[in-house]
Amino acid sequence: MTDASTISDGLVVTIHYELALSDGKVVDSSKGHDPLAYLHGAGNLVPGLESALVGKAKGDALKVAVKPEEGYGERSEEAIQVVPRENFPEDAEPEAGMHFQATNPNGAPIMGTIVELKDGMVTVDFNHPLAGETLNFDVQIVEIRKATEEETQHGHVHGEGGHED
Ligand code: ZN
Repeated sequence: MTDASTISDGLVVTIHYELALSDGKVVDSSKGHDPLAYLHGAGNLVPGLESALVGKAKGDALKVAVKPEEGYGERSEEAIQVVPRENFPEDAEPEAGMHFQATNPNGAPIMGTIVELKDGMVTVDFNHPLAGETLNFDVQIVEIRKATEEETQHGHVHGEGGHED
């Protein structure tokens, strides 16, 4: 039997969190929203945050600085590509700073950011927007419960703070 008093793999954990970068800029926060529910050990969080939460109990608060290699990875120059404007749909109007979803060679969705348009070519950055950043999380643990069988199978949380199905 899994004890649900402290965080371990297979439990559903509900947290309030704030994510700030090294310069103090807050880029994500659950404040003013419902807390986030996730399935621990299923890779729903970045690895550095997930490992820092192991063994914590309801009511605990922690601050953790997650290095890029344990977060969204280092920035890669290879992830910056120059593609012809024609590769974008006719009706798309690419402009610098725009985010869009594309498909990688394995068929998985990836996010791209348009860096520049020049001479019919578009420079696209496929790095995660937070790649290369140290992630400063401020976390409060709101709730810990056992996962349902369905949640365990799906690898994510259902219901409040989680997925629809
Ligand atoms: Zn599901």
